[in-house]
Amino acid sequence: MKLLACRNCNYITESSTCPNCGGASLSEDWAGYVIVLDVDDSEIAKRLNITKPGKYALKVR
Ligand SMILES: [Zn+2]
Repeated sequence: MKLLACRNCNYITESSTCPNCGGASLSEDWAGYVIVLDVDDSEIAKRLNITKPGKYALKVR
């Protein structure tokens, strides 16, 4: 199982297109992740401009 991170929104997914933003630019080369459950109450979500709960990479190359 290969996990890819979206270069546009950092969302982590197993599919070849991002289910979060619909982008098709996904990278295998990413580091660290956060799980955001409550976007309204998360400093990290605000910093990364996350608007939907999910798993997000901290760094995507
Ligand atoms: Zn995306």
